[in-house]
Amino acid sequence: DCVDILGMLVKCSNFAAVKHSTQRRKDPAKTPYINHPIGVAYILTEEGGVRDASVIMAAILHDTVEDTDTTLDEIKKEFGHQIAGIVAEVTDDKALPYDERKRLQIVHAPTSSREAKLVKLADKLYNLRDLEKATPEGWSDEKVAEYFKWSSKVVEGLRGTNRQLEASLDEIFSRHDL
Ligand code: NDP
Ligand code: ZN
Repeated sequence: DCVDILGMLVKCSNFAAVKHSTQRRKDPAKTPYINHPIGVAYILTEEGGVRDASVIMAAILHDTVEDTDTTLDEIKKEFGHQIAGIVAEVTDDKALPYDERKRLQIVHAPTSSREAKLVKLADKLYNLRDLEKATPEGWSDEKVAEYFKWSSKVVEGLRGTNRQLEASLDEIFSRHDL
C-alpha cells in the first residue's frame, strides 16, 4: 500500500551513518566504517538479487548494535520489530568472551532465519574480500588464515539460501584451500 520504503531506506542509511560516524575499518587505509554496511546491502541487491526491503534495511543497520551504543529497543522503536529481529540475529553478544562469540556464530547459523542468513552471507563475503585485498594492521598470517577457516564453518550453516552469494564465497574458500 502506502508504506514509505524509500523514506525508510534513507532513514536507515542516515541512522547508520550517524552511529558509525567516528569509526573506521581495520584495513590499512582506515576506510570509513559506513562503507561496510552500505557495501553489504549492495552485495545483496547487486549480486544476490535480493529485493526484500527488510533484509536490505537490516543489512545497513547490521553492525549498529554490535559496534556502537545503539540498543535493539532503539532499532525497534525507529524501524519496527521485523527489522529489529533480523538485526538481533546478526548481533554478537559482546559480554561473552571472544572465542565463545565466534563459536556461537557457527552454532547459530543453521537455525537463523532466511533473512538473517542473507545478511550473514553478504557480511562474510564483504569481510573476506577485504581480507584478500589487504591484511589489517597487527594481524598475523595465522590470524588471517584462522578467519578464513572460521568463516567457512559459519557459511556451512548458511547454505541453501542464495546461489550467487554462496558461489562467490566458495570461490574465495577454494583459493584458500578450504
Ligand atoms: P575480530 O577477529 O573479530 O576482527 C574481525 C572482524 O573485524 C570482522 O568480522 C569484521 O567484523 C571486522 N573488520 C573490520 N575491518 C575489517 C577488515 N578490513 N577485514 C576483515 N574484517 C574487518 O577481532 P579483532 O582481532 O579485531 O579483536 C577484537 C577484540 O578481540 C580485541 O579486543 C582482541 O584483543 C580480542 N581478541 C582477539 C583475538 C584474536 O585472535 N585476534 C583472540 C582473543 C581476543 P564486522 O563485520 O562486524 O565489522
Ligand atoms: Zn559486518
